[in-house]
Amino acid sequence: MTNGVLEDLREIVQDVNAASSFRAALNTIVSRVRSAMSTELCSIYILDRGTGKFQFAANQGSNPDAVGRVSIGPDEGLVGLVAERAEPINLDDAPSHPRFLHLPEMGEEAFHAFLGVPIIHRRRVLGVLVVRQRERRRFDEDDEAFLITLSAQLAAVVAHAEAAGDIEALAKPTAEQEDTRFTGVSGAPGIAIGTALVMHPGTTLEIVPDKAAEDIAAELEMLDRAIGHVREDMERASRRLSSLPDEERVLFDAYLGMLDDDALVEEIRERILHGEWAQGALKQVILEHTRAFEEMRDSYLRERAADVRELGQRVLGYLRDIRQRKVDFPEDTILIGDQVTAAMLADIPVGRLRGIVSQRGSANSHVAILARALDVPAVMGAVDVPLYGVEQNTLIVDGFYGQVVANPSRPVISHYAALMDEEREFAEELEDLRDLPSATRDGQRVALWVNIGLVGDITRSLELGAEGIGLFRTEVPFMTEDRFPTEEEQRAVYREHMEAFDPRPVTMRTLDIGGDKALSYFPITEENPFLGWRGIRVTLDHPEIFMSQVRAMIKANAGLEAVLRIMLPMVSSMSEVHDARRLVHRAHREVTEEGYDVRQPLTGVMIEVPAAVYQARQIAKEVDFLAVGSNDLTQYMLAVDRNNPQVAPLYREVHPAVLRALREVSKAAHAERKGVGICGELAGTPEGAVLCVAMGYDVLSMNATHLPKVKWVIRHVSVRDCRRILARALRMDDADEILRFIRAEMVRNGLDRVVPRHELPEV
Ligand code: PEP
Ligand code: MG
Repeated sequence: MTNGVLEDLREIVQDVNAASSFRAALNTIVSRVRSAMSTELCSIYILDRGTGKFQFAANQGSNPDAVGRVSIGPDEGLVGLVAERAEPINLDDAPSHPRFLHLPEMGEEAFHAFLGVPIIHRRRVLGVLVVRQRERRRFDEDDEAFLITLSAQLAAVVAHAEAAGDIEALAKPTAEQEDTRFTGVSGAPGIAIGTALVMHPGTTLEIVPDKAAEDIAAELEMLDRAIGHVREDMERASRRLSSLPDEERVLFDAYLGMLDDDALVEEIRERILHGEWAQGALKQVILEHTRAFEEMRDSYLRERAADVRELGQRVLGYLRDIRQRKVDFPEDTILIGDQVTAAMLADIPVGRLRGIVSQRGSANSHVAILARALDVPAVMGAVDVPLYGVEQNTLIVDGFYGQVVANPSRPVISHYAALMDEEREFAEELEDLRDLPSATRDGQRVALWVNIGLVGDITRSLELGAEGIGLFRTEVPFMTEDRFPTEEEQRAVYREHMEAFDPRPVTMRTLDIGGDKALSYFPITEENPFLGWRGIRVTLDHPEIFMSQVRAMIKANAGLEAVLRIMLPMVSSMSEVHDARRLVHRAHREVTEEGYDVRQPLTGVMIEVPAAVYQARQIAKEVDFLAVGSNDLTQYMLAVDRNNPQVAPLYREVHPAVLRALREVSKAAHAERKGVGICGELAGTPEGAVLCVAMGYDVLSMNATHLPKVKWVIRHVSVRDCRRILARALRMDDADEILRFIRAEMVRNGLDRVVPRHELPEV
């Protein structure tokens, strides 16, 4: 594709994303496509799921009156044919085609050339984009390629509108949609009903919604403060770089010039005075200026467009910060955002957070893991949930099924409230299990430990009957600092955990940063972070960090009965095992020489990379224990990013390949007479517990929240039954079949209380 075409595509997509409504977006598409392709007519038909018909939704070139009034059945006309075949149709004489539909109000007989392409999102045809020409000629291959490319890029906009109820609204503009459901994936189980609070971190100017200012004076003040901050930043940067040649510094001076040139800032102020909120006013003015520069097509001026955008982005960053600090958190906050982050959770006053909805991320994002630890229901990857228009509205978060209900009706609210009561009752019943042993009906003990990361987790874990810590994510205390914590600071945190759990065993994982876990003060920028500098790879390259951590762990263990188990993340080769063990021994020697009376810690390896599965036996020979990190193991075995909602349905911990790997690791550890645990999320699910018991895992480590339910399951099954279930599951082809089968078996054995409601047989 030529540069000009790419440029056209980029601009159209940008304008469509910046449109203030779905209707405006459609109008932008048809007018921009018509001019980019120099064609006489461009129209869009959008599938209305309610009626099953394609609505004539936007048009440029003729018959504007038919928009919103005409709709075409899926088996009618050429538009229906494009949808049916899910392929482009290119004709030089459309009216002579047998499927041509004669609709007098459309006046299409005069147009001979026809090119229609489907708009497809996630395998579903959502609409049809059509261009027409009066003359009898075929659109050429370039036209076809252009329209297909554009349609693929616009499909997400249409899908978003469909989910937000905007498509029905095209026909009935005032319809108030009740009980609109959005689907994501379960991030943390449970149900919450509460008030939506939208967080907009680091999003781009394009997606700032237009909305009315609640308090014009306050918005003006925020704008001034934000601009003041940006000015200070620029001045500081300019001073810091004073030794650089002038050309390198002009950028900052250019920014300062733009800020001092009152025209730009004045324009933003004007819009606020007319009632727009500061972020919306900023977006409008900056995008208008950017576009004006971009259209000049002079390379120097195009660069100015990038400068204006960058400046606007910086002001936006501060506006958001200021606003977020001022936020009044409702008592029943449902936090919703494009990408909800751990830092956002920390901003909310204790006890006010009821639920989380994140457009991005998946069940294994660290925010989801944190939500489970906090026992806050969460839905991740809800890509279609709109962020505009929901603020302050009631939302229902169904963390069991990964569903969000916006604008819920009274009956739906009562339904969910009843489910919440049921859950509460079961939880109360489970409290009685606290002091009972975790053993199967035929007497097999299975240790239930916890995954932990925040000091606040300790009490809850012990209250829920944790028998040890199976995974202490040490990176969490590192994340809350603004520099590496000192050895003594680390020792104090680790000691707190060990003392609280003494004499129970405590497994401390060495720093596992990289991937999606970043330290603000130690940025790692990589193209492909999950395959990059992560976990043990970082700490072996920085032995000073590794040593201070291990020394702190060993010191924290002094004088306690608790067995210290040091665990290494992301191991993918034997040399890493050898090098790390050498450092652990050295740390122990040093600490002993300093006069501490400490035992040699146990050392273990996390099996979370396929290479480690195949070398599990050799690794087990060298270390004291193995622990499977099934979250990463699933991601790496299936080549499915654990945070990417686009592929979330493919992320399956009970995939037959993953189950085989789990079985191999357990066998390898036992062959070397070493203990083996599992600390990924699978261990905390009823189905996972059954499978892991069957495979002989000695330790299941999970978020404390899941522990009572898992103990209940273990006390209701026998190893024999579990093995029978596993044997059959391993003969099955895919994860869905396996999950359905295990759940059916659980129902057969009277464990239906832990089986999701939709999997229960109808009564
Ligand atoms: C895992 O990968 O399964 C694991 C327990 O570690 P984390 O989720 O912290 O990567
Ligand atoms: Mg991991």
